[in-house]
Amino acid sequence: TVVFVSGATGFIALHVVDDLLKTGYKVIGSGRSQEKNDGLLKKFKSNPNLSMEIVEDIAAPNAFDKVFQKHGKEIKVVLHIASPVHFNTTDFEKDLLTPAVNGTKSILEAIKNYAADTVEKVVITSSVAALASPGDMKDTSFVVNEESWNKDTWESCQANAVSAYCGSKKFAEKTAWDFLEENQSSIKFTLSTINPGFVFGPQLFADSLRNGINSSSATIANLVSSKLGDNFYNYSGPFIDVRDVSKAHLLAFEKPECAGQRLFLCEDMFCSQEALDILNEEFPQLKGKIATGEPGSGSTFLTKNCCKCDNRKTKNLLGFQFYKFRDCIVDTASQLLEVQSKS
Ligand code: NDP
Repeated sequence: TVVFVSGATGFIALHVVDDLLKTGYKVIGSGRSQEKNDGLLKKFKSNPNLSMEIVEDIAAPNAFDKVFQKHGKEIKVVLHIASPVHFNTTDFEKDLLTPAVNGTKSILEAIKNYAADTVEKVVITSSVAALASPGDMKDTSFVVNEESWNKDTWESCQANAVSAYCGSKKFAEKTAWDFLEENQSSIKFTLSTINPGFVFGPQLFADSLRNGINSSSATIANLVSSKLGDNFYNYSGPFIDVRDVSKAHLLAFEKPECAGQRLFLCEDMFCSQEALDILNEEFPQLKGKIATGEPGSGSTFLTKNCCKCDNRKTKNLLGFQFYKFRDCIVDTASQLLEVQSKS
């Protein structure tokens, strides 16, 4: 079976590609340049089951046409993972909303035009951000589940970069479900979405930490490199380990009961304070050197500042245990420290 993975060079996607190859799938990935694609192929030791195509910018019209013209007749499964994940912009439409929405539209259009008879399953990497707005996430009376939708509008989500990113995930996911409904007669694939909370955990290849770390991993890296007495922003929300996110991408198309579902990936709620407590407890080389905040205050912070999550439906559908926060943070920080010690 041939699986297409968009944005294959990213933090989550690299784990997905690795799991796919280990399970015996053939993988066609997309990356933004020849250089990035060559780098990826090298990391996978030129595995004969892996090939790469260039999709330079998913915001461009018909961005995926060439790939599907070329490979449409062999691709059975499409995992659309590419989307901008950063917050350093003030042009929210150009840098966040448009690429997310256009990318989703153009990959689905390309399937319809060039692979309608072959593609059976599409999995789109959405986010908890499509389920709840930043405001909802801070509402202690709000319960997020698989039926929730971020209520921000195209206009209201542009208040700041974080809510614009969340809006980009909402509008991209909505584009996909609408497309499915409007094109029932001309496509045969089923759709599932993966809606993870903050994704932490080790990089598949440690050297990804050397050249521009991805946004969610930076949250933990900043704590590891903090200094005693530093103030820190207490991020909070649902969390999930990247290894579980990857596994869920495979089950989403392998398990028939996942078709048509939104899979909300959350092991538990977390906050940065809890991550700091773990770092101070588990790493003698960090204790006394990094920020401490108010040890032990994390759970009270969450009760007072955070919504609740209910993803029993997803847990039942997937049927495997997620990594615990402590193990996830320990594995993330161990890799960061190892890379630091070598540089
Ligand atoms: P990364 O930034 O590591 O991966 C994003 C990927 O998308 C990269 O390969 C990136 O390429 C590619 N991409 C971004 N913009 C464009 C564009 N305009 N044209 C072509 N390719 C583009 O982040 P993650 O692995 O964390 O994110 C993967 C997916 O998971 C995203 O859809 C994200 O929204 C979602 N997600 C992530 C969460 C997290 O906490 N990490 C939580 C919930 C959802 P390049 O690096 O070359 O620019």
